[in-house]
Amino acid sequence: MNDTAPVLSVVIPVYNEEEVLPTLFERLYPALDALGRPYEVLFVNDGSRDGSVALLKDQFRRRPAETRVILLQVNFGQHAAILAAFARARGAYLITLDADLQNPPEEVGKLLRELEAGHDYVGTWRANRQDLWWRRIASQFVNLIRERMTPIKMTDHGCMLRGYARSVIDAINATRENVTFIPALASLYAANPTEIEVKHDERAAGASKYSLYRLIRLTFDLMTGFSTVPLQAFSLAGLVLSMLSGALVVYLLGRRLVLGPEVDGVFTLFAIVFFFLGIALFGIGLLGEYIGRIYVQVRQRPRYIIGAVLEQTPHVPAAGTNGIERRAP
Ligand code: UDP
Ligand code: MG
Repeated sequence: MNDTAPVLSVVIPVYNEEEVLPTLFERLYPALDALGRPYEVLFVNDGSRDGSVALLKDQFRRRPAETRVILLQVNFGQHAAILAAFARARGAYLITLDADLQNPPEEVGKLLRELEAGHDYVGTWRANRQDLWWRRIASQFVNLIRERMTPIKMTDHGCMLRGYARSVIDAINATRENVTFIPALASLYAANPTEIEVKHDERAAGASKYSLYRLIRLTFDLMTGFSTVPLQAFSLAGLVLSMLSGALVVYLLGRRLVLGPEVDGVFTLFAIVFFFLGIALFGIGLLGEYIGRIYVQVRQRPRYIIGAVLEQTPHVPAAGTNGIERRAP
């Protein structure tokens, strides 16, 4: 299958996953072999500092016909890493998967069936999700807000086991956003999307690569990257609050004229002032989120920098994606 394009490209971002990679290889390749379709697996090393690179190189030597390894210079984040593979995938269909075996490789066939049935995007939700309780609750909350604030309709935006057909892959490759959330983009570009339920396991080994801070950043990418409703909601809230405080001024002025000077309620006043101050600061922060995105976008720095690609037949990446490739001489 070396020169003919594979039907399926499986994309796996890898960031310090030396503990799970051997088990992943053991389960992934038999599961894909069993599908009976020509396939390629694209591993993207997202700047790992552990033994992941050595393991990926070994695997490339073992299965060179089906394996391609993209080595990024440093850590660019999961979504940028996946984009590097989007630009290089040759398959008619592309399925993304996490390296930590939380998405069982045996589920890939289920997604491929939907793609072959004509769906250009296959979303997923996780049956009895195996994550920490606070992450489950936080993500339910974010799902709720996202449903109301953005045009993106999906049951569970956290699961990265997803399928994309060529038309959607090309549309994503043509997108020039520096910060993005791939499944959300795909759900906007798809003409005939579907959603299915997939199994979810506990991480096979190692620890999650997302700190609370990185999860919050990702949530902001999702909210401010796909909607300006937060800004509009904020100006609306500002309008209502200034009308209310205007009414309060008139009322207090009236009391001053009728009852004379009063000092009661000074602390209530403090509370009210601090409350408004909090809202004002939040508003400035919210503006900052949007301005920050514009700033990142106008700088036009590459979304990722590739140090080397291990592949049997060199493949020219899709034009348009703003990543940089530095091939080893
Ligand atoms: N990942 C990555 N770059 C990062 C963070 C994560 O490539 O900066 C990869 C990671 O190796 C894994 C996937 O993205 O394959 C999901 O990460 P993780 O399992 O830590 O996230 P969680 O399941 O806790 O949301
Ligand atoms: Mg995980």
